[in-house]
Amino acid sequence: MLPSLPHPFSPDIIFFDTEFSDLDTRTGSLLSLGMVKPNGKELYIEFEHDGQVHPWVEKHVLPTLTQQKISHETAQGMIRRFIGTNKKKKPYLMAYVNQFDAIFWYQLFGSPQHHPAFWIPIDFASILFAHGIDPNSMGKQRFFDWLGVDKKGFTLHNALDDARLLKVTYEKFWERI
Ligand SMILES: [Mg+2]
Repeated sequence: MLPSLPHPFSPDIIFFDTEFSDLDTRTGSLLSLGMVKPNGKELYIEFEHDGQVHPWVEKHVLPTLTQQKISHETAQGMIRRFIGTNKKKKPYLMAYVNQFDAIFWYQLFGSPQHHPAFWIPIDFASILFAHGIDPNSMGKQRFFDWLGVDKKGFTLHNALDDARLLKVTYEKFWERI
């Protein structure tokens, strides 16, 4: 029997966001990655990058970068340790408008077999859509007012803060609907 809706399929989620040098995923590369578990544990990484950066990224993302930059290889190990290595129970990666994050994630880990998270990425914008809510709502103040989420403490376009905001928003969303 199917569970009654609305009800998320699983609570085993990693809230996640990335920032990257260009929206063109053929030429862009990862600049940063933030992850938050439902229990509040966090991981934040900034990547070594010496290529071009899109002017929008230079203006909005580079000022939010604060940490020592590390290689993709080192980052892979940190992410695997953070997520865990239970191959039978991989958590779901949840991002907002996740197509770019997902492609850069696939570039980082290659074949889904080698992914530390479940291979199908989950998009919060699509969840909103399925509940009759504008998928663009994360860009609208009235959505956060409706949920009672105060965005003031979050630095927009910092991958960790974006992942934190997604977690808070997601949790409030299920309380509210
Ligand atoms: Mg972001």
